[in-house]
Amino acid sequence: MNILFLGPPGSGKGTQAKQLAEKLSLQHLSTGDAFREAIGNKTPLGVEIKSYVDSGRLVPDELVSRVVFEKIQQSGKSASFLLDGYPRTVDQAKALDDFAKHEKMALDAILLFDVPATDLIKRLTARRQCPKCKEVFNLVTRPPKVKDTCDACSTPLMQRADDQESVIKERLDIYERQTAPIIDFYKGRPGFHKINAAQSVEKVFSDMVEALKGK
Ligand SMILES: [Zn+2]
Repeated sequence: MNILFLGPPGSGKGTQAKQLAEKLSLQHLSTGDAFREAIGNKTPLGVEIKSYVDSGRLVPDELVSRVVFEKIQQSGKSASFLLDGYPRTVDQAKALDDFAKHEKMALDAILLFDVPATDLIKRLTARRQCPKCKEVFNLVTRPPKVKDTCDACSTPLMQRADDQESVIKERLDIYERQTAPIIDFYKGRPGFHKINAAQSVEKVFSDMVEALKGK
């Protein structure tokens, strides 16, 4: 089963994706991780991406898609995927459709994580990440056991530069502009489900599992 996760930054989809991928033995593929991996391995795509990231320019759709497709192809025919944060624009969604058709890969479920903007701002400013193991915490919804310290590796937690309040509104605006049209793109398809992501992590997870049963 291949699943797409759509939703704004702060909707908790990363946390849910990790748990669901584990439960269903899917490969969790996030664009952020794929970028970091390609850059770290200095692949030709990674070098190209790095030049955009370093200069603060947006990585073009076509390049984003190539990185994702490369990861999918590397994993072989039998693998199943949870795509988290991709596609982010209608052009990427169209590219994914073409790719899926070509690879005979079904997009079985599309889950939209729905949260009001005021909740998102509250959540995002409370987010902290471990710079070492990348574990994500939230001072409101998922505080670390010891203040400002990673539960997993005891490294002091940090606020990501893009979680600072001034940047958040802009990120949400970009999401709204780019991703709202994707929702229209997928809305009528079988397997499309809107999940109320303003609920507790456990409730969101069980709603999600329930939605996938109908699949
Ligand atoms: Zn850690």
